[in-house]
Amino acid sequence: MPQRTFSIVKPDAVRKGYTGAILAEIDKAGFRIVAVRKQSISKPQAEGFYYVHKERPFFNDLCTFMSSGPLVLLVLEKDNAIADLRGLMGATNPANAEEGTIRKKFAGSIQENAIHGSDGEDTAAFEIGYWFAGYELL
Ligand code: GDP
Repeated sequence: MPQRTFSIVKPDAVRKGYTGAILAEIDKAGFRIVAVRKQSISKPQAEGFYYVHKERPFFNDLCTFMSSGPLVLLVLEKDNAIADLRGLMGATNPANAEEGTIRKKFAGSIQENAIHGSDGEDTAAFEIGYWFAGYELL
């Protein structure tokens, strides 16, 4: 049974016109797109999504950024999807991201870093359920 993970093409990347190129990288890496939806989110919706970071100093800026324009919500599937997507994304700070990673190619800063990916099985389950209903995940 392949593993599922949750991803977001963040508002900076959508604004810069990188959505198609990032989806192509995801496709080339062998992920099946189970669900995809482009939408804008409210600041409270961003705060709920990132609640694990609520004590971090950048929480308010992060939630303002995530609600600053349309983004693309994704559920992705493949063997080892969670770790493989993290590898494809690269380090949080694009200055430290490895060559060939999505953040190296498309991210502008540690905050506006182009893509989100779940960091574990529990967070993937929470994040998929936060944005998608079961009937959208067939
Ligand atoms: P990720 O798992 O690589 O996305 O990184 P984290 O879970 O640590 O942080 C979540 C998101 O918060 C990151 O993707 C960035 O958009 C943002 N972020 C992380 N660290 C910083 C920081 O030091 N400053 C700012 N402004 N944003 C940050």
